[in-house]
Amino acid sequence: MTTATADHLRRLPKAELHCHVEGAARAATIAELAAGNGVGLPVADPADLFEFTDLNQFLEIYDVVCRSLVTADDFHRIAYEACEDGVAAGVRYREMFFSPGFVLKLGVPIETVWAGVSAGVRDANADLDITCRLILDVDKPSGPAHAEEMVSFAAGCDRELLLGVGADSVERGIDHAAFAPAFEAAARAGLHRTLHAGEDGPAENIRIAIDVLGCERIDHGFRLLDDPELTRRVADAGIPLTVCPTSNVVIAHVVPDVASHPFDTQRGQGVRVTVNSDDPGMMRFDLADEYVAVADAFGYDLEVMEDLSLAAVDASWAPDDEKSALRRRFLEEFDVLRAEAGLPARG
Ligand SMILES: [Zn+2]
Repeated sequence: MTTATADHLRRLPKAELHCHVEGAARAATIAELAAGNGVGLPVADPADLFEFTDLNQFLEIYDVVCRSLVTADDFHRIAYEACEDGVAAGVRYREMFFSPGFVLKLGVPIETVWAGVSAGVRDANADLDITCRLILDVDKPSGPAHAEEMVSFAAGCDRELLLGVGADSVERGIDHAAFAPAFEAAARAGLHRTLHAGEDGPAENIRIAIDVLGCERIDHGFRLLDDPELTRRVADAGIPLTVCPTSNVVIAHVVPDVASHPFDTQRGQGVRVTVNSDDPGMMRFDLADEYVAVADAFGYDLEVMEDLSLAAVDASWAPDDEKSALRRRFLEEFDVLRAEAGLPARG
């Protein structure tokens, strides 16, 4: 068994499928943007901005983050910096959520959000060793009509950059099946579909996401194992889960620590699980930290961690030729890192 050091896991090339641009923002950047846009901070020292111990505090900070984002330049900056920070965690490929629902309520037009986020990602793709694409994440509490508007906007965007739609925020009190018309429209427009489901809500929401909304991936899927028949179907159909173990500990509070997370059992039952950071800026815990946490919690050796990295490439919505190229590149880099560490080549 070859265990990897934290540095090795940081440098391991990775793909990430569940990361929110707003949650990836740096505290120092939000403090600056807040000052520029006349938004008061709840803390004296910006370094303390992302200190939270429960979901309510997290949402309070999320509110400050969203209020601080007003101009296209603001969105450009957080999108670009999110890619820079991804590169520092070894992320070579990312499909990143942006969630306009909250800022739309504050009066920022969707066109402004998209102009900034898309330009930030385009610039990062040109400047940095990363390929990042976007997923428009609908705000579930804003309702089905809002979702249909967002899907219709997404359909008209640069589709090289915008791959699909998702939906996030709370599950309680949400009729997930009511989003069927929006997701059908997304399918007709050739947009990929995913959904935050079974995070703090029941496995039934995962079933609705697949059977009613036609989702190709599930974000979180924490509660999947509650339904053995559904688990079997998800495994057999190869529907990927974008799991965020540490987020489930510190944000959703559905599990006391990563070691108690069902990730390893899901994987053991043949579910296509991937490792993701969710909100690396706000959690101050990036994808490299997450890989270390998962390896430690479940005693995974280096080969398993490499397999998990490749699983995210395979579960991505990148074109097939790009996926093959990413796989080849990752396998080469795995062996370079192994050689540097004096470890045997991958079997
Ligand atoms: Zn999420």
